Amino acid sequence: MKPSEKSDGMVQFIDHMAKANFGRSRTSCVQNDLCVSCGEPAVSFRDELSRKEYTISGLCQTCQDGVFGVRVPDKKQYGIRPLNIEPYQK
Ligand SMILES: [Zn+2]
Repeated sequence: MKPSEKSDGMVQFIDHMAKANFGRSRTSCVQNDLCVSCGEPAVSFRDELSRKEYTISGLCQTCQDGVFGVRVPDKKQYGIRPLNIEPYQK
């Protein structure tokens, strides 16, 4: 997968943090579809939002759930709607 675009300073910062915490760089992990945290293949995601989050943080679905909790897309507190579900009526 392609890592999300960020400024050079931001990329260096995140890669540095990832290396310090996990011994891996986010950029190289995302390019190789690996999780920066657990090192397992990161190929299966619940939805587009989680897939996008992976390109930002480098965390696989399991690790995202561990960090952020399991998202409930319709809950108002998150202000998130599933991207792949069309309304039944207009
Ligand atoms: Zn992981």
